[in-house]
Amino acid sequence: MSNEDRRLLCQRIRTWIIPLIVAIIGILPFILKSPDFSLSVNQVTGATNPGGVEKIEVNIGRICWYKYPVTLCAEEYPPGTEITFLPIGEPRIPYSSTMTMEVGSDVPEGQHTIEIIGIGGDGKEHTCRYVLYVKLISDNGEPPPMFVGSRESDVYHDPNCRYVNMINAENIIWFTSAEDARAHGYRPCRVCRPPE
Ligand SMILES: [Zn+2]
Repeated sequence: MSNEDRRLLCQRIRTWIIPLIVAIIGILPFILKSPDFSLSVNQVTGATNPGGVEKIEVNIGRICWYKYPVTLCAEEYPPGTEITFLPIGEPRIPYSSTMTMEVGSDVPEGQHTIEIIGIGGDGKEHTCRYVLYVKLISDNGEPPPMFVGSRESDVYHDPNCRYVNMINAENIIWFTSAEDARAHGYRPCRVCRPPE
């Protein structure tokens, strides 16, 4: 092998083989990632009065061909509240389960953080949280207007705004009116445009 050949070989290794090895090492964690599932919930849909019923969708997602059924249950909900899931454990994921919360008539007003637990057929466990907001309905029978903000920002939203779903359950803060939100130093969201 002449010196020229050796030089060409080295060059080829540098341009092709080394980047190839780096790429394989980079992809490896994704190839070796074990099958799993994910659990998520739309954080806020509104407020319920004591004695009312609130329904939300819990989404069970599949990661890397996860093949076991996932069973759902809930913890840390206020006493006197009944929680049911339908369906409760579906062998085919991804799927959505409707979580129905029948709020007891003596549940105190305020925020209640409910822990939702998914247990897979192979013992894997994931949790997510939902903030149940319980608020007495006003005298005229209409729930008072309510807006949502995050403790980590200064923007308030309509509860149906897509940004509300991005707020972590523990950071959710409710306002009884636009005045209430402004009094706390919050400004209206430019996307959902709640009343000012
Ligand atoms: Zn918004």
